[in-house]
Amino acid sequence: MRLTLQWTVVLTFLAVASLAAIVAWAASSQFDSPLLTGLAVLLVSAAVAWPAGLLLSRRLAQPLQQLAEVVRGLARGRLDQRTEPDEWRETAELGQALNQMAEQLQATLADISTDRARLQAVLASMVEGVLVLDRRGRVLLINDALRRMLPGADPSAIGRPFIEVIRHHPLNEFVRSVLEGGEGRRQEVALLTPEERIFLLQASVAKPEGERGVAVVLVFHDITELKRLERIRKDFVANASHELKTPLTSIAGYVEALIDGAKDDPATCAQFLGIIRKHTENLKAILSDLLQLSTIESGVYRWKRQEVAVADLVERAARVLRPVAERRRQTLTVRPCEASLTIHGDLDRLTEALINLLDNAVKYTPEGGAVTIETTAVPDGVRITVADTGIGIPPKELSRIFERFYRVDRARSREQGGTGLGLSIVKHIVEAHGGRITVDSTVGRGSTFTLLLPAQPAFS
Ligand code: ADP
Repeated sequence: MRLTLQWTVVLTFLAVASLAAIVAWAASSQFDSPLLTGLAVLLVSAAVAWPAGLLLSRRLAQPLQQLAEVVRGLARGRLDQRTEPDEWRETAELGQALNQMAEQLQATLADISTDRARLQAVLASMVEGVLVLDRRGRVLLINDALRRMLPGADPSAIGRPFIEVIRHHPLNEFVRSVLEGGEGRRQEVALLTPEERIFLLQASVAKPEGERGVAVVLVFHDITELKRLERIRKDFVANASHELKTPLTSIAGYVEALIDGAKDDPATCAQFLGIIRKHTENLKAILSDLLQLSTIESGVYRWKRQEVAVADLVERAARVLRPVAERRRQTLTVRPCEASLTIHGDLDRLTEALINLLDNAVKYTPEGGAVTIETTAVPDGVRITVADTGIGIPPKELSRIFERFYRVDRARSREQGGTGLGLSIVKHIVEAHGGRITVDSTVGRGSTFTLLLPAQPAFS
């Protein structure tokens, strides 16, 4: 059982009082004078009360000092500090309450730091940029993604007005309208970062907001790539429709002419039918190339992983184009390569890619020209070049010839039965294998297409 301070003081007082009474009783028989008796009682009481009071105050002060020490430690952030149990009930209860408070504080702070760590992890792993502003438009928080996106959004921006940090009129106007309107909004904004990128801004307003609290959370979605793909898709649909429409319109025209009477003249009839056949073949070629492209691009195509002897691969493709080259009196040379040179990949698709390159080389090289295929072993793969002495490609067109339907000379390509899809198919096949295709060309002197194929394909 613990002593209470109250009882200790009362008991001590009683003890001192009874001692004084005893002394007074004893003294009254010694001294005749009541003054002397009173003085003796006072002296005795003081002699007893002084050390007793001193002892009591020391024992009282000790636990209080310990409590003060712990409180000071807590204030300094040492939340693991606890009071020792002591003999006084009041200070022991105070100590217990203090320990409970410290435990509560420690647990709350641990929860807060866990929540903060989670929030930081979420913000840091986001690909979207996040900007948090208070109701006066000052920056409260910027995540890593936004730092990478916007040059001005660095840690020095914290606490500064947003308008000073990102000097971009449409963006500032957007933020201002959200702060003033108090409603969430979304808008597309083009920003220079330093190259131009398109962002979809999503602003949410936090309610209720305090003077220093969060008012607006802005999320920056980088939709540049999405926009590019959207544009490519739109262009593709427009191009494909155009490419299909041209031969179809022509076919319809000639059929109409035949019906209107051209069929009655055998020579005209034969000529028109010949034209119709050419356009039909062109349509067939476009559809077949489109089908190939969509099969590869859709990702459903199952690539074969076969051991491919490079000499065989080159020979398979050359065999297809040799008769065409001969008809055009061109020399098609396959430079001998190491017979043992092998890679892994999809033989049919790789042959198709080489046929496309050889077909172009033959198509865009005048009669009497030369087409040469050369194969070289390189570390971890093989390099195959298809060189011609043809018309060449102007430098500004070089980066675009791998785009779908892109042709340097549309009429010429169509005349040759080209679809404008050959090189994009080649690029897809090569890249699916983890390889690369490059081109070197000089107008009027010829072009060289180089395939770099890894020994092991990228697909599994
Ligand atoms: P196409 O069916 O028109 O040949 P491709 O995608 O194969 O389509 O080629 C795209 C364009 O690149 C061609 O229209 C042509 O202008 C150019 N091109 C491709 N290969 C050659 C080459 N060997 N020599 C000159 N121009 C070429």
